Order: sequence, then structure tokens, then C-alpha cells
Amino acid sequence: MELVTVNMVRWNTRCLSTGHQSVTYGPAGGMGGYGSWLGRTPAGEICEIDLFADPLFEQVNSIVKSLRASDETVDEATRDVLGFACDPSPADQYYTFMYTVCCPVCGSEEVIFGPDDPPMVEFRQIPRVTHKKWDSIEPKQRIELVKRMLIDRGWIPE
Ligand SMILES: [Zn+2]
Repeated sequence: MELVTVNMVRWNTRCLSTGHQSVTYGPAGGMGGYGSWLGRTPAGEICEIDLFADPLFEQVNSIVKSLRASDETVDEATRDVLGFACDPSPADQYYTFMYTVCCPVCGSEEVIFGPDDPPMVEFRQIPRVTHKKWDSIEPKQRIELVKRMLIDRGWIPE
């Protein structure tokens, strides 16, 4: 597993339904930086994808384009399903590259989060995401996988 060093800001999280308090990290340069995206799992695991070096986004994007009538939401839909083309995390969860932050304790999305005052910024080593399964399957299977995820996520009708 390749590790990359990313400048990150510490966020304190508070779970609205249970009061769980925990900590997670976000990109110090704002959400979803240029050329490099962070993925996260409900458990709070974080990964990175290098959109320039890694062909995955283009591969998924071209399939999403081929399955959709409208151009307007193609990139957002690609972002939403990208994590399902990646290998699961060490805790066996799928990463999302959307802006979703979950409670690291219970996985609830009903969470508020924010930096300390002043913000705690630190360099952290996080894994670069892999997609060995995706690389090993046939083009037809890739299309089926993306199609299924687009349906599940409400981007295209059944
Ligand atoms: Zn919680």
C-alpha cells in the first residue's frame, strides 16, 4: 500500500443523535483539492486518489457519460460512484469521494464538524487508493458495475 503525505487540518466531530465526540481530518486546502481527492469511509478512514496519475476517474467518467443522457451531472455522478470502483478500505468499507463526513464512532451522517481555533494543521500519511479488482475485470463487467451504482445512487432510472 502506497502512502502519500497530505497536509491536513484536524476536525472535531460531534454526532447529533448520540453525542459521540471524535476527531477526523480534512484537506487543509479546502474540500476536494485540484488533481487530488480524498476519499473517506463511514468509519473515518481516509485515502487519496491522484487524478492525474491514476486513469480510474477517466475510465469511470467515460462509462458514466455513455450511460447518461445529460452532460450536466456527469462529473458529479462520476465522483459519487468512483469509490465503488476502488478496493474497499482496510476495515472493508467503501470510500466515498463526495463531501460526506460521518461520525467516526457510529457512521452517522448527522454530524457537525469543524477545526480547532486556531486550526491544527499537520502532515499526515494516508494510503493511496487501489483498484485491483476493477483492473482485473472485463470492460463489460465494469459497465455493469457502474450502471448498478448509478441506479443505486439515483443518477439513472432502473
Ligand atoms: Zn455517532
